[in-house]
Amino acid sequence: MRIGIGYDIHRYAEGRPLVLGGVHFPEETGLSGHSDADAVLHAIIDALLGAAGLGDIGRHFPPDDPAYAGADSRVLLRRAQEMISEMGYRVENVDVTVIAERPRLAPYIPQMVLAIAQALSLEPDCVNVKATTNEGIGAIGRGEGIAATAVALLTER
Ligand code: MG
Repeated sequence: MRIGIGYDIHRYAEGRPLVLGGVHFPEETGLSGHSDADAVLHAIIDALLGAAGLGDIGRHFPPDDPAYAGADSRVLLRRAQEMISEMGYRVENVDVTVIAERPRLAPYIPQMVLAIAQALSLEPDCVNVKATTNEGIGAIGRGEGIAATAVALLTER
């Protein structure tokens, strides 16, 4: 068994669509970033790559590479899963915490779980997404951005 941890944070940016966990949030302020800025999927990708000893998201999907401009992070997540699979590992489960003052994420968690499970070819019960606010503390508490942490467990096939 191998475990990995991931973390990501993106600032809000006016005029960008908000995408979290592969789900679009219409009418919400989006996040700045080279790709779709999906901090949730980026944290999961780092957890998966970390568990496999494959470095981090920046190594495999460099932010200055035009190929990833506006990229759908679900595609990057699937690519990370494929790399892990090629190494002979399978993903057992993924657990995520999203930290945001807004929007209220609870109603969208089932959709995020399904989108993540689909990208990873996992059953939905292998994916868990939690959301919390930062209780008004610090940059996230002031509503400057959204952060996510994730852990992933791999086993040898
Ligand atoms: Mg990111």
